[in-house]
Amino acid sequence: MRIVAPPGTVDALPEEVRTNRFVEAVFMDKCRLFGYSEIHTPVFEYGGLFEKGVGKVTDIIEKELYSFTDKSGARLALRPEGTTSVTRAVLQHGLNRELPAKLCYKITCYRQENPEEGRLREFHQIGAECYGSEDPRSDAEVISLAFEALRAMSVENLTLNINSVGCPRCRVSFENELARYLLPFANRGELCPTCAERLGKNPVRVLDCKEAGCRAVKAGAPKVVDYLCPDCLEHYERVKACLRAMNIPFDEKPGLIRGLDYYNRTVFEFKGGGGGANGTVGGGGRFDALSRRIGGEADLPAVGFAIGEERVVLAMSDGGSGAAAPEKPAAWVVAEDAGAAAGCLLALRSAGVRAEGDVMGLSVEEQLARAAESGARWAVFPEKGGLRIKNLATGEERPASDAAEAVRIINKG
Ligand code: ATP
Ligand code: MG
Repeated sequence: MRIVAPPGTVDALPEEVRTNRFVEAVFMDKCRLFGYSEIHTPVFEYGGLFEKGVGKVTDIIEKELYSFTDKSGARLALRPEGTTSVTRAVLQHGLNRELPAKLCYKITCYRQENPEEGRLREFHQIGAECYGSEDPRSDAEVISLAFEALRAMSVENLTLNINSVGCPRCRVSFENELARYLLPFANRGELCPTCAERLGKNPVRVLDCKEAGCRAVKAGAPKVVDYLCPDCLEHYERVKACLRAMNIPFDEKPGLIRGLDYYNRTVFEFKGGGGGANGTVGGGGRFDALSRRIGGEADLPAVGFAIGEERVVLAMSDGGSGAAAPEKPAAWVVAEDAGAAAGCLLALRSAGVRAEGDVMGLSVEEQLARAAESGARWAVFPEKGGLRIKNLATGEERPASDAAEAVRIINKG
C-alpha cells in the first residue's frame, strides 16, 4: 500500500513551512503598518452562506464547493475563500458599528478543482478587507497594501491589472449586450455545457470560464468598462489617480472580471513569476452588496483582496530559499551522563538559548562531532560542581559556575 495524501493537498515540509511563515510574517507586518487587524473565522460555515455570497452560478459554487451534512442534518461547507466569512463575522459581531473596520486574515481554503502547479484543493490565502467606505481612497489603500506586501516578498515580474465592473444598474445593459453576443456561439455549440446553461442566468461567468472554447470567445466580447454610468466612471478615474499618486504602476484590462459574483466597481489582480496557474498571485475588488447578499439589512461598502500563498512562493525570485535558512543552535550540550545533559539543556532552553543535545545515545566523541556539524557556536560540558564552555570557532574554553553564567557568556556572543 502506498501512503499518500489526497490529490490537490500538499504536505509543507519544514523548509517550505519556513517560507510560508516568511510570507505570512511579511504580510502581517504590512497589515500592521496599514492598520489592519487580524481576524479568525471557522473553516466551515453554513453552506448557504457561500451560495449567497460568492453566487450560485459560479465555478466555485457549481463545481468546486466541498459541502457536507453533519450529524444534526445541518448543511455545511468548507470555505472556498475568506471574504464571505469575514463579512459574516463583521455583521454577526457588529464590527460595522465603528467604521472603517479594517481586517486581515491568513486562512486555508478548499476548492474541488483540477490540481495543477499553483492550483490545489487545499490552499492558503492571505487577505485584507476595508469595510465602511465607498471612497476611492479605500480601494487605493487596499491595492497599495497588497502591492507593498508582494513587493516585500520579492515576487518577480509583479504587475497589477485593474478594471471597473460598474454597479448593478450600469451592468444591466452590459449583461444584455453580452448575452446577445454569446448566443450565436452557444447555438453553434462552441461554449462548454455549463456556460451554455449559464447564458440566461449569469452570462458574465462565461468570461471567467477556463474551458478552451469559452476562452476563445472572450476576445471579441463587449467590455464591461464601456458600459459604466457616470458615477462608476468617476469612481474608477479617482482610484487610478490615487494609484498614480502613489507611483503604483498598473495596466487597465477592460476585459478583467473575477470569478465571484459579489464584486462591483473596482476589480484587480496581481500577476507575477513564471506564469504557473495563469501567474495570478492575488486578486480582489469592491464588494458593496455582499453584506446584503448574505442577509445583512443594508449594503456595507467594502473593498479587499486575497493573495494565494502557494502562488507567491512559486513567483518569488529566489523560490523562497532566501527566507528559509534554518536556525542553527547557539549551543550543543555534550555529556556522558544523560541526567546532567538533560538538566543543563533545560536550564539553557528556559533562559531562551537555542540548545541541542544528544537523544540518540551517542558517545562523547560523536556528540562533539555533531556539535561541530550543527554550526553551533558553543559546546557546553556539564561537569561536577559547574560547567565548562567552549567556543567552537576559536577553541577557547572557560569554566562557568552555573547555567546562568553560561547563558551570559553565550548571549554576549
Ligand atoms: P484563478 O483564476 O487562478 O482560478 P481565482 O480568481 O479563482 O483564481 P480568487 O478566488 O480571486 O482566485 O482567489 C484569490 C487568490 O487565491 C488567487 O489569485 C490565487 O492566488 C489563489 N488561489 C485561488 N484558487 C487557488 C487554488 N485552487 N490553489 C491555489 N491558489 C489559489
Ligand atoms: Mg479559480
